[in-house]
Amino acid sequence: SSDEETEEYLFKIVIIGDSAVGKSNLLSRYARNEFNMHSKATIGVEFQTQSMEIDGKEVKAQIWDTAGQERFRAVTSAYYRGAVGALIVYDITRRTTFDSVGRWLDELNTHSDTTVAKMLVGNKYDLDDIRAVSIEEGKNVAEKHGLFFMETSAKDSTNVKKAFEIIIHEIYRNI
Ligand code: GDP
Repeated sequence: SSDEETEEYLFKIVIIGDSAVGKSNLLSRYARNEFNMHSKATIGVEFQTQSMEIDGKEVKAQIWDTAGQERFRAVTSAYYRGAVGALIVYDITRRTTFDSVGRWLDELNTHSDTTVAKMLVGNKYDLDDIRAVSIEEGKNVAEKHGLFFMETSAKDSTNVKKAFEIIIHEIYRNI
């Protein structure tokens, strides 16, 4: 029926991870095809909405960026509320950001239900030469927690679109 044809979905996806791993740039690369060498100074939650079509249906992904909240250890429960997907991001050149992944997963699990589609993202793949975390280590942690896994570069665009599309398709598959 025409009702089905006009069906629309809105999926809230949150991006979490330590400061400066590239969360804002992953979002700006995906939503606006932009990259910024200098971190933003603004503080406050922001989101961008990106539309795509799956099975002839309009799917809107509302993707949230902490916009610096994590620096003050104050990512609020409002940030997680209603999320159906999450990207947990670390920087492949900084091991401490990888060590934090478990803590971010705990926080996510505290504030959302277990059906949230999750992807572990090792960002800054363009800096492969100075990586501090191997692909295998990333894969192992993802496998252990049942997460999708991908290495990306917001700088040169590697796998950014793919990462978001995989998570959006997974959310769609779950509904
Ligand atoms: P956030 O604090 O997690 O949102 O991180 P930002 O997106 O603000 O990025 C932090 C810094 O890392 C900035 O200087 C970015 O230019 C840089 N950055 C982000 N993504 C990449 C990437 O894929 N490769 C490289 N080389 N630098 C990146």
